[in-house]
Amino acid sequence: MRILITNDDGITAQGLWILARELKKVAHVTVVAPDREQSAIGTAVTLRKPLRVQKVTPLVPDIEAYSVEGTPGDSAILALNKLVEGRVDIVVSGINHGLNLGDDVLISGTVSGALQGYLRGFPAIAVSLAEAESHYQENAARLAALLARKIDAKVLPANIFLNVNLPSLPLEKIKGIKSTRLAHKTHINAVAEGHDGKQEYYFLVRQQLKNDPDRKTDIWAVEHDYISITPLYINLTNKPAPITDEFCAGLFQELQASS
Ligand code: MN
Repeated sequence: MRILITNDDGITAQGLWILARELKKVAHVTVVAPDREQSAIGTAVTLRKPLRVQKVTPLVPDIEAYSVEGTPGDSAILALNKLVEGRVDIVVSGINHGLNLGDDVLISGTVSGALQGYLRGFPAIAVSLAEAESHYQENAARLAALLARKIDAKVLPANIFLNVNLPSLPLEKIKGIKSTRLAHKTHINAVAEGHDGKQEYYFLVRQQLKNDPDRKTDIWAVEHDYISITPLYINLTNKPAPITDEFCAGLFQELQASS
């Protein structure tokens, strides 16, 4: 199995390398990621300036790694078209520092990195976690490795695009894994004002997404201490097969056994 890893927190982000270290145990891994923080860049791609790429020293030994002067989308496109020699089986993006829930998947750079893989026919997984705490990141990374193996073993279909969010909790406090749908909510709903002495300016204000009464959504699941797996799809008529409760229960048992 060969996995491309990208992210939106940048090539030096801890979550990226914890993910790479774990996926390297089950696959041949290549890392191609933005050279700087690109969170909330959404599906942006760079078309009007050259994209510069540096081969970088990996923070985990024996992994080929490149930093891209561009977005997560740029990174995935460059990787799949140019940088990775040989085939890629799966694209994994993350582990993001911060949840990517509800309609905000559309502004998420993390989801966008996976999206560019999905749009090119690769199974794709975006993984996000509320806090960048290494112990929780390791749980997220092990879950990503389990999911990659399920795709490789064809337990999950090849045209899958998963948005995975984990609560920042020790595994023994997580209640299980839920297959969810996106809540119809965004976490940017307010604007703050300031004045620099000359001119008024504005800030878009982020709020934590919570209090969703709908038990089927990603927000509900994470708020109630479950891992959320949302199968995403872009093609309006090609809805993916649902992820079953049995699959989620089995996956959570495997995650617990792997810790
Ligand atoms: Mn981010």
